[in-house]
Amino acid sequence: MKARFNWLALGALALTVGCHASPNNNVAVAPQTANSTTNQTMKFPVTKTDAEWRQELTPEQYRVLRQADTERPFTGKYWNTREPGVYRCAACGEIIFTSETKFDSGCGWPSFYDLAAEKKVILRDDDSLGMHRTEVICAHCGSHLGHLFDDGPKPTGLRYCINSASLNFEATNSADAKK
Ligand SMILES: [Zn+2]
Repeated sequence: MKARFNWLALGALALTVGCHASPNNNVAVAPQTANSTTNQTMKFPVTKTDAEWRQELTPEQYRVLRQADTERPFTGKYWNTREPGVYRCAACGEIIFTSETKFDSGCGWPSFYDLAAEKKVILRDDDSLGMHRTEVICAHCGSHLGHLFDDGPKPTGLRYCINSASLNFEATNSADAKK
């Protein structure tokens, strides 16, 4: 039990010192017109109409992926997932992250210190909510994934703070893992 308490204390500390720049402050995030406009003008390998996205995604996925909303911390499917596997963009299926670079940031969102491979995402400035952040979008379909911060662990020092709603986890096949 002692180790458990220590872990909790560590998590609380991380929450205090590492997460001041969380994706939101539990404020309902209004759809960001600038982002929507940019998404429409940028070219991506996967392009769909707004009606198609609405039809294919759940209402929550649509709000996050296509309107850059942020899910509430500690509510998503994957903030505490530790199983080996890959995390795909929930909109287009592209592999964006792997479990190998996932870490417990204590923030309540899935956090990764690196991408599955280079050029999986596009970064852009996000000055909404009265603060400067770096938005992370899928390079394949332009969907909003989350934000990037520079308070992550080594070796990159980066923290990709990603919404669970933007991801689909695929566990590594146990047969493959034994190979
Ligand atoms: Zn995508």
